[in-house]
Amino acid sequence: MPVTRNRLKNLPIDGTKRVLLAAPRGYCAGVDRAVIAVEKALENYGAPVYVRKQIVHNIHVVTTLEKKGAIFVDEVDEVPEGSHIVFSAHGVSPAVVKGAADRQLQAIDATCPLVTKVHREAVRFARDDFEILLIGHHGHEEVEGTMGHAPERTTLVNSPADVPYITVKNPDHLVWLSQTTLSVDETMETVRLLRERFPNLQDPPSDDICYATQNRQVAIKKVAEEAELVIVVGSANSSNTVRLVDVALENGARAAYRVDYASEIKQEWLDGIATIGVTSGASVPEVLVQEVLDDLADAGYTDVAQVVTAEEDLMFSLPKELRTDAAGNPDERGLGGRSRKLDWQRDGA
Ligand code: SF4
Repeated sequence: MPVTRNRLKNLPIDGTKRVLLAAPRGYCAGVDRAVIAVEKALENYGAPVYVRKQIVHNIHVVTTLEKKGAIFVDEVDEVPEGSHIVFSAHGVSPAVVKGAADRQLQAIDATCPLVTKVHREAVRFARDDFEILLIGHHGHEEVEGTMGHAPERTTLVNSPADVPYITVKNPDHLVWLSQTTLSVDETMETVRLLRERFPNLQDPPSDDICYATQNRQVAIKKVAEEAELVIVVGSANSSNTVRLVDVALENGARAAYRVDYASEIKQEWLDGIATIGVTSGASVPEVLVQEVLDDLADAGYTDVAQVVTAEEDLMFSLPKELRTDAAGNPDERGLGGRSRKLDWQRDGA
């Protein structure tokens, strides 16, 4: 993890150097809840607390929690019997829940409620004998968790290119669902192609792509209309972060790069660039964006304007296992009195 700041040079360009800062950006309600859940589990039960998979897809968040005593594992069979384990925001299949119960693990489910909503849809449609076409990325933890709720009835559709090869048993009893963090535009294209093949394909009862993913894509689209370069802060395994790079490129940015840390910004990216767009994925703490803004300020990009396309105030209460304080008394303060989700509104330019 970088500890020194990358001092970029302030080279002359034609025009005024400025930054357009997308809002909303950064922490969503599900990430905020999941990170606080690990912190509160450490507080209530003491270290170590085990976490299945990365609690959220951000390397800075994971290493910070590791220093506090969290141990990240791939599967429940790596966890000593009887220990506390937190399931990540991306959700788990019933098989994982059973595996944890078989080892007498004390499970804390930090699955984002908007992922749980998709799980419930999968269960309900499977029970009603529908075949489910799940649009999502092969190997993503959320997709594995959702498919695990209706394994016999779900077919994964990885991209529009998959559509010609999809086979179904009954094209008249078919519904599509999706991963929560996809590109809205690409997903709609996939649905359009699916519907060409299967005209009676049913829509999900409500959007599966979550509010946070959609809001961040709308904001970066607006920014990309004016920004020559877009910098997206977030980790490579963060689906919604990577989608922000794609969306920026599809909507006017000449170049778009993802960085975990400000020190990854390269001097040559800034050559001749007057307007830089900045945003961050839904699992990114605002401090990392601030470090990017600090380095860009060193390079002369001191004029920072927020481009606000939506206000967000959604918060989820903690997993039920954590709604007590360390002494076991009920904690009525929702997120235990903590939330960093709105940092971008407090700290943004
Ligand atoms: S990106 Fe959406 S689905 Fe994922 S944790 Fe955040 S709110 Fe939940």
